[in-house]
This record gives sequence, structure tokens and C-alpha cells, in this order.
Amino acid sequence: MERRKLGRTGIEVSRLCFGTLTLRQLNIGPKEGADVIACALDMGVDFVDTAEGYATYEHVRLAAKMRPGFVVNTKSPAKTYADMEKSIEKARRELDMDTIDSFLMHGCGGPKDGIEDRRGALDCLLEAKSEGKVRAVGISSHFVAGARQAGECPDIDICHPLVNMLGKGLPDGTAEDMDDACRLAYEAGKGLFGMKSLAGGLLIPKSDEAFAYALSRPYLASIAVGMTTVDEVKYNTALFQGRREDNKALKLKPEGLRVFVLKACAGCGDCVKACPSGAMAIVDGRAMADPQLCVACGYCGFACKRFCIRLV
Ligand code: SF4
Ligand code: SF4
Repeated sequence: MERRKLGRTGIEVSRLCFGTLTLRQLNIGPKEGADVIACALDMGVDFVDTAEGYATYEHVRLAAKMRPGFVVNTKSPAKTYADMEKSIEKARRELDMDTIDSFLMHGCGGPKDGIEDRRGALDCLLEAKSEGKVRAVGISSHFVAGARQAGECPDIDICHPLVNMLGKGLPDGTAEDMDDACRLAYEAGKGLFGMKSLAGGLLIPKSDEAFAYALSRPYLASIAVGMTTVDEVKYNTALFQGRREDNKALKLKPEGLRVFVLKACAGCGDCVKACPSGAMAIVDGRAMADPQLCVACGYCGFACKRFCIRLV
């Protein structure tokens, strides 16, 4: 599998990145998940994306025990120095890694939540980098504004933007706007790897076209794709190497996942705050997702203490 440099970080990664969010969404246990990750590593993938909120550190740790030597990206929603310090130590402890390759501020770039609004967390990451606990720092963002800020901020090494051919899930612009912002960030020397190329499942019926779009973005070193089975790994690794495989073995849900809110919703708004795409709102006392903006990431469900949100 082709590998590319992540900007000026000195880190090289495979074009396909194993996204672990879907392991959490589908409740795949650590051992089973680690086996799927190991299969991807055997097929040329050497980049794994996780996050504190995904609860998949154990999956990645077990995979690293079986197949050490791959690049790990993680993320934390921390906004302050103290909270980021806890996140870094948690990641190093639970992943059993002295150094995390890439550590991002998760879901950064929205209104009143830009890079400078999390300056305390960023300063902590920069200190960790100077101490060798982290190799590169950056942000993940569903916002065009986030990618723009990443390009302009000298402290940022890596940007993990939402990039798909429809621009679905972008609350503040079009696919073309994100394209421009990412290109500028790339020209500024940032390492970029994309997410949500299939727009939360909506583009599964057009997966060839959707991945062709993402792979043709010259600024993306890699693209994170959620995988939960060996068949998905085989299909996606072939696609990323220019081969087309029969997808009959895949259990595809052609229309993608949708958010369903149970009647027990208390309208507390925690899910609204957790949504990185600005898709959630309280309407008539109950949470509701805007299907035009929702990319089925499931973060709203993780945030709901009453367990009222399902992805169906
Ligand atoms: S977090 Fe749960 S209870 Fe609160 S508004 Fe959202 S769905 Fe309703
Ligand atoms: S799944 Fe939930 S958090 Fe994710 S984009 Fe949709 S509404 Fe927002």
C-alpha cells in the first residue's frame, strides 16, 4: 500500500487509515477488534485512528502487542491544560505507549471553540511534544473554519478534516470551501488525513466514487475509514490499491445510519453540545438531528446519560 508523508512531521502513513470509531459503535470487543486491526496491518495498513471518546484504547493496545510498529493517532476533547494533561497520561497508560505519534484536539474549530479557545490544551500538547510524549499535535474538525485555523496556526502539525464529495456534515461551508481550506493548510506544511469520506454511510452505494474523490485530494496523506470485519478490510485495502473486489460479503446498509431519539429524551442538550457537526438541536423539548448535517458519528449517543439516542 502506498504511503505518504504527514506534512512536515517526519511521520509516514499508509493511504488507508484504520478508523476505530465503528468498533465502538457496533460494540465490538477488544480482542475481536484487535484481530480486525491486525488483519489490516497484515494487508499494508500502518495507521490507526482512535480517540479517548471512542473507548477503543484496549483494542489498539492488543493490536500493538500482536503487530507492533504502526502509527497511532488519538484525540481528546480537553479544552484546558489540566484536562489535556490527564488525557495524555490516560492515552499513554491505556495504549501502553511511551510516545503517541499524533495527538489531536478533538472536534475543534466550531463557533467559540477554535484553536485559540483551547489554548491551554494546546500548550499542554506542545509541552508533551517537547518532552517526547507526543510526536505531533493538531486538531480534528468538521468545520471549514477548523481547517483554515489549522493552516494558519504555527503550533499545529496535523489536521484531520471532514472531507467528502457532497460536503455533507460541514456546518459552515461546501465541499469546495473545505477543499480550499485544506489545500492552504497543506501548502503551509500541515499533515492532513481525512474522515467521513462516505458521509456517515450515505455514500456507501457510491463508495468507489466517494473514495476516488477523497484519494484524488492531493492534500490528504491518508483517509480514515471505519472497519469492523475482515471482509471490510479486504474490500477497502483492495479499493485503496486500485483493485475492485466483489462486495457481496459485506453487510452494507445502503442508506447509511440515522439518529433516532427515544421518547425518554429530557431535552437536556448534552447531545447538542457533543455534536461536532452542529446537527443536533432541541425542538419542542426533545433532541432532533438535522439529516442534512448528521454524519452518523454517534458522539451524541456517547454524550446522552439517559441512553436515548440510537443509530439505526
Ligand atoms: S443528551 Fe439525551 S436526554 Fe439530553 S437532549 Fe440529548 S437525547 Fe435528550
Ligand atoms: S451522529 Fe449525532 S453527534 Fe454525530 S453528526 Fe449526527 S447528530 Fe451530530
